[in-house]
Amino acid sequence: MAVFVLDKKKHPLMPCSEKRARLLLERGRAVVVRLHPFTIRLKDRLGGETQPLRLQLDPGSRTTGIALVREDETLDPDTGEVRREAHVVWLGELTHRGAQIRDRLASRRASRRRRRTQNLRHRAPRFLNRTKPQGWLAPSLRHRLDTTLSWVARLQRLAPITSLHQELVRFDTQAMQNPEISGIDYQQGELAGYEVREYLLEKWHRTCAYCGAQGVPLQIEHIQPKSRGGSNRVSNLTLACAPCNERKGSQPIEHFLKDKPTVLHRIQAQAKTPLRDAAAVNATRWALFERLKATGLPVASSSGAQTKYNRQRLGIPKTHALDAVCVGPLEALHGWNRPTLAIKATWRGSYQRTRLDRFGFPRGYLTRRKRIHGVQTGDRVVAEVPSGKHAGNHVGRVAVRKTGSFNIQTARGVVQGISHRHCRVVQRADGYGYAIHPTLTEEARRVA
Ligand SMILES: [Zn+2]
Repeated sequence: MAVFVLDKKKHPLMPCSEKRARLLLERGRAVVVRLHPFTIRLKDRLGGETQPLRLQLDPGSRTTGIALVREDETLDPDTGEVRREAHVVWLGELTHRGAQIRDRLASRRASRRRRRTQNLRHRAPRFLNRTKPQGWLAPSLRHRLDTTLSWVARLQRLAPITSLHQELVRFDTQAMQNPEISGIDYQQGELAGYEVREYLLEKWHRTCAYCGAQGVPLQIEHIQPKSRGGSNRVSNLTLACAPCNERKGSQPIEHFLKDKPTVLHRIQAQAKTPLRDAAAVNATRWALFERLKATGLPVASSSGAQTKYNRQRLGIPKTHALDAVCVGPLEALHGWNRPTLAIKATWRGSYQRTRLDRFGFPRGYLTRRKRIHGVQTGDRVVAEVPSGKHAGNHVGRVAVRKTGSFNIQTARGVVQGISHRHCRVVQRADGYGYAIHPTLTEEARRVA
């Protein structure tokens, strides 16, 4: 995993290797700034040579992949063609907590509704008088945007980032040239088949059109079989799971679905309706794109089909971070097999000071103090316990108690009841939990 390097005045320099960082620290030329992501500061250097670094993002609903890539453009002396090669510098995965935010707001709404209505006989109905400002996003979606942007800003402070690249859409309708009219065969270039596939996945909601199966591999299927004169147009294509595809074979659809008239009608109607406004499929991604442009760095965008094409052509496994590496046009990739920093958005605490039992009655009260013996819930601590049941070293995220007996969330699980006297804070709580995912080959070795 690359180590971020800052100069004497905390300006970012090129990230270095772990070995180099270790040597610099041993010789006393550098000090540790933070543990996650690991950053050092050189005590004797002011400024230095930097190379262009690109930050690539693959925004997802639960997890956003982040990759830092150094790009080399080499000119082939014989053909004069530019070859774009990417060297992976750093990988990260940011896990959002949109689902928890949604659940918490739902429970708050439920309790407020009860409080407002329980003692009222009648109140005039009040509705249709709420407006939302333009560009408003639900809190769970806004959280996704905010955390992603805060990590972009953070990484900008740690590395000399010169450009940004984001996966903006699942498929590029412009690259497909009016998908409903032209079919697979009429598309230009190798990428077009991928774009059509992503388009169909979105149009048919990632389900088998015949049996409604989800989460299974889906095949592109001709509604009117080609052997009976069916065309390659997207309006004649649907998705089917392998068993359905095999069972249908080259039968005409009316014959295959003669016992299921409703399914037949639905498929025929859906096939004719083009997917309207592909851009609005993911409003959050567009909002992120607009906000990234506001950083002042050049921002490029590409489609999910391009990512998938790169991944399959270069034989790269699927993880969120490696998807971010594959975003955008790419000809060769070096050094992708490296550990990933897993970043999990956590909360900073709760306003509610009363714990409730499952019937809603008060069960206990939480303290109003956030810091106990100088330690706060969410801090990363090292506990060296000399004796007793929990003797040994424990490293992880701490949860404090007023009694001074803390719980530590380590990589192996929660260790309960560690005295504050043994705990040493190594990084203050910043709203995120961290873990390092090993490289894929290391993981395979561990499993074997
Ligand atoms: Zn099926």
